[in-house]
Amino acid sequence: MIDLTIKQALEKLKSGEISATELTKAHLARIEKYNGELNAFITLTPERALSDAASADKRIKNGTANVLDGIPIAMKDLFATRGIRTTAASHMLENFVPEYESTISQKFIDAGTVLLGKSNLDEFAMGTFSKTSYFGAPVNPWHKNDKLTAGGSSGGTTSAVAAGMAMGGTGTDTGGSIRFPCSITGLVGMKPTYGLCSRWGCVAFASSLDTPGPIARTVEDTALLLSVMAGHDDKDSTSSPNAKFEFDGELKPILGDGKKLRVGVIKEFNSVQISEDMKKLFEQRIADLKSMGAEIVEVSIPNILDALAAYYVIAPAEASSNLARYDGVRYGLRVEGSDIYDTYKKTRAAGFGEEVQRRMLIGTAVLSSESYEVYFMQAARVRRMISDSFKTAFTQCDLIVCPSGANTALPLNSDLTPLEYYALDLFTVAMNLAGIPAVSVPCGLAQNGLPLGMQVVGPRFADMSVLQLAKHIETASAFDNRPTKIMGE
Ligand code: GLN
Repeated sequence: MIDLTIKQALEKLKSGEISATELTKAHLARIEKYNGELNAFITLTPERALSDAASADKRIKNGTANVLDGIPIAMKDLFATRGIRTTAASHMLENFVPEYESTISQKFIDAGTVLLGKSNLDEFAMGTFSKTSYFGAPVNPWHKNDKLTAGGSSGGTTSAVAAGMAMGGTGTDTGGSIRFPCSITGLVGMKPTYGLCSRWGCVAFASSLDTPGPIARTVEDTALLLSVMAGHDDKDSTSSPNAKFEFDGELKPILGDGKKLRVGVIKEFNSVQISEDMKKLFEQRIADLKSMGAEIVEVSIPNILDALAAYYVIAPAEASSNLARYDGVRYGLRVEGSDIYDTYKKTRAAGFGEEVQRRMLIGTAVLSSESYEVYFMQAARVRRMISDSFKTAFTQCDLIVCPSGANTALPLNSDLTPLEYYALDLFTVAMNLAGIPAVSVPCGLAQNGLPLGMQVVGPRFADMSVLQLAKHIETASAFDNRPTKIMGE
């Protein structure tokens, strides 16, 4: 049952071949077996899962099933869940139990999903290996004895889905946190258009970049999850009035039968050093697209290599402002000091880990009156130029493809400097700065037997086309990510 895709499971649930309770129990057993080793979940909710499953079974039986009724999922522990602690993987929120439900998690409840638990992540989603989690890093199910990273910041969800502990789940992508972890765990993950999925009730990191999105094993499953997550929300002022993603379960071909599609490759990325494997697989997939009738064109995003620098000014700036609320008074941890300022200091020193503190310092510095013009405003200008260049590029091509990262998963104990970690986001951050949709889809296995992914990127609100092209890439690479195979069973 573990190897079923969401789409297959929905058919079997509908026909009565399996029940939601059986499906849930199979995933709970899997969690029992592997979560100790993989550390994918911070909080498990088995009782809630079984009661969700029982309700789903009732609805399926009496013909009132919702679109994802009975599907067991992992919720990134950044989405507030009523009555279930929501930690953001931080000591600061270790015991925080929200009294409200985030819009995204509410939509999953309404769709009939089964909540297995809250998945691990980097503290406040700041990181690339999920190593900044206060609860320890999740482990990649691929070559699990080698203790490789499952990526970050949504590494708990990718670890859970790749290992078959959950059928799908949520992530958030501020600079690559869905796409990068998916690319090194052999999964599909999407950063939708900014404004398509509500951020309400999602712990804020950098509000102008944060994007909730789906993670699953296939492109169609990803589209199914996105159809549940998308939609306008009055409670999020940046939610688009046009936010809509309708999906009937079948992605229509965008290539073949003489269809015309111009697929762009970014010239500036040619000069970036990537592994031989990534290069080879990317070229193979491009050749596949060509043979299916796509016209490949080179496009230029002149400032794309400056996206990293702009991102690491803008994201910490917004984070330093967003995280000012954790002061020991209103939320979470409080360490009593000699006066209120001392309490602030002691609480924040004890509650935030090293990486979060580093970002607070950078953010506060770039927003200070003497640095604001040279750093923050300059970064904002670069952001605008990148966004404009993408717009121009999308007059020359319909969609763009590029790698999701340079290499396969690295060991969790790799000793990288902060700047070396930041550099891993080179292929992903520009899409956040521009607010455009991008999906990472597996493009094959490297020589070392580990997965690699590539992205399909589109103009704002071309989320459907992006997924349609990703489906062609998925079919061409014939990638096998069945959990039992990954775990060598
Ligand atoms: N790795 C990036 C960072 O550390 C992206 C994180 C994210 O998308 N949440 O900021």
